Amino acid sequence: MWKRFSLRARIFLLLTALVCTTLLGALVTLWHTRAMDSLLTSLIDKNVASFQAAEQLETSLLQQKGYLTYYFLDGNPDWLKQMEQHQQAFGEWLQKARKSAYTEAMEGILRQIDTDYQAYIKSREQVINLYRQGEQEAGVKRHWEVRRQFVDLLNLCERYKLMHEYAISRARTESQTQARFINAFALAALPVVAILGMLLAYILIKQILGPIRSLTLETAPASREAPGPDEVKALSRRVHSLIENVDQAQSELERSQEHLLQSGKWAMVGKLAAGVAHSIRNPLTSVNMRLFSLKRSLAMSPSQKEDFEVISEEIRHLDAIVRNFLEFSRPPKLKMQRISPSDVVDAAVELLRYRLESYGVAVKLLRDTKLPEILADPDQLKEVLANLLVNAYEVMVSGGVITIREEQSLDPALGQTVIIRVSDTGPGISESVRDQLFQPFFSTKEEGTGLGLSIATRIIEDHGGRLDLEANEDEGATFVITLPLRED
Ligand code: ADP
Repeated sequence: MWKRFSLRARIFLLLTALVCTTLLGALVTLWHTRAMDSLLTSLIDKNVASFQAAEQLETSLLQQKGYLTYYFLDGNPDWLKQMEQHQQAFGEWLQKARKSAYTEAMEGILRQIDTDYQAYIKSREQVINLYRQGEQEAGVKRHWEVRRQFVDLLNLCERYKLMHEYAISRARTESQTQARFINAFALAALPVVAILGMLLAYILIKQILGPIRSLTLETAPASREAPGPDEVKALSRRVHSLIENVDQAQSELERSQEHLLQSGKWAMVGKLAAGVAHSIRNPLTSVNMRLFSLKRSLAMSPSQKEDFEVISEEIRHLDAIVRNFLEFSRPPKLKMQRISPSDVVDAAVELLRYRLESYGVAVKLLRDTKLPEILADPDQLKEVLANLLVNAYEVMVSGGVITIREEQSLDPALGQTVIIRVSDTGPGISESVRDQLFQPFFSTKEEGTGLGLSIATRIIEDHGGRLDLEANEDEGATFVITLPLRED
């Protein structure tokens, strides 16, 4: 039954029960305090005042005792005067008692006292008259009657006083019953509140904090330490890092999607290029051979020789284009070995030294120590560097400086990497062509094939790395080769 409720409903129910019990407890305590207050007030206001009047009534009656006997003994009228004073006091207390009487029974008994007292006074006066007239015998006889009336009256006064004592003790019992009830209620409410609180705590820990903790642990990478005491904060940190991972994964996905698209395009173009290159290469080779034998057999004039050289140069250029196409369509398999990329940099610079000098381009090498060895194909890597260097000196028509900076770094996607940065002091690359730069057959040069950067990118990606263009529009271009520093 309990399990059928949702977590939210369970927490809500428990909280409601907890709040209701606590509120009920507070209300009962409030009610009890008020009840006690009114009980005490009534006890003080009514009972005590009324009880006092009852006591005084009895006392003033008792004070009237004996005077008649004293008068009988010595006939002194002062006794009668004193008795009258007490009689007056009795009358006043009777008035007060009537005012403070608060039940029917009390009023009834007071009426009775009043009637009997009047009768008693009458009888007493008769006795006084008899004593005054000297009828001692009849007086004494009547005196006995008066004594009996006095005792009856005293009993009535005593009853009246007892009535108050009874009312006070009843009020006390009532307050004790209430106190007992409050105690019992508090005793019953305490375990209920404790159980409800524990249940709530159990649900919070087991069904909210527990899952949050395990979720945090599950989402945490294995290498990270356990979450701290604040589960919600830890979870929010994890969720943040997950969102970051998702963002990273998304951009990687976009990259690979683009790469895939590119590969498709490449495959098509590659087939076409391979076909064309093949068809051109054979006639080109035969033209080249014929030219060579003609050069040897013919005696040429200087201008003919010059024409001959131009033709040979153009054929070499054509051959280079065809070679590029063939390489692009059928990339050679990587021959991996452990090498330091610094050696490859040196080899590439050495290979192009003559041409760099003829273009008036200086090479500045920024290297602290040689880069550590990585698994790579030195020839392919040299081709990439040569491509970048050729592109650089080709854009610096009136000379300049190529800076090669070697570094090691920690890449978020590749881990430990080696970085080779090739910068030139050429015109730079405008924002508008940046996106097309790495696409095959994109070239701004009159005689360019637009394959150099595509081939370089593919070689670097085959090595598990990246070829990027750093953003600097006016101050030359910087190409960055990033290669993973893997153990295997
Ligand atoms: P190609 O050299 O045959 O044009 P690439 O793929 O090597 O083909 O280069 C593509 C284009 O990228 C070049 O035509 C040129 O516009 C631009 N480019 C490459 N390197 C640089 C550089 N260092 N500075 C300015 N532009 C460059």
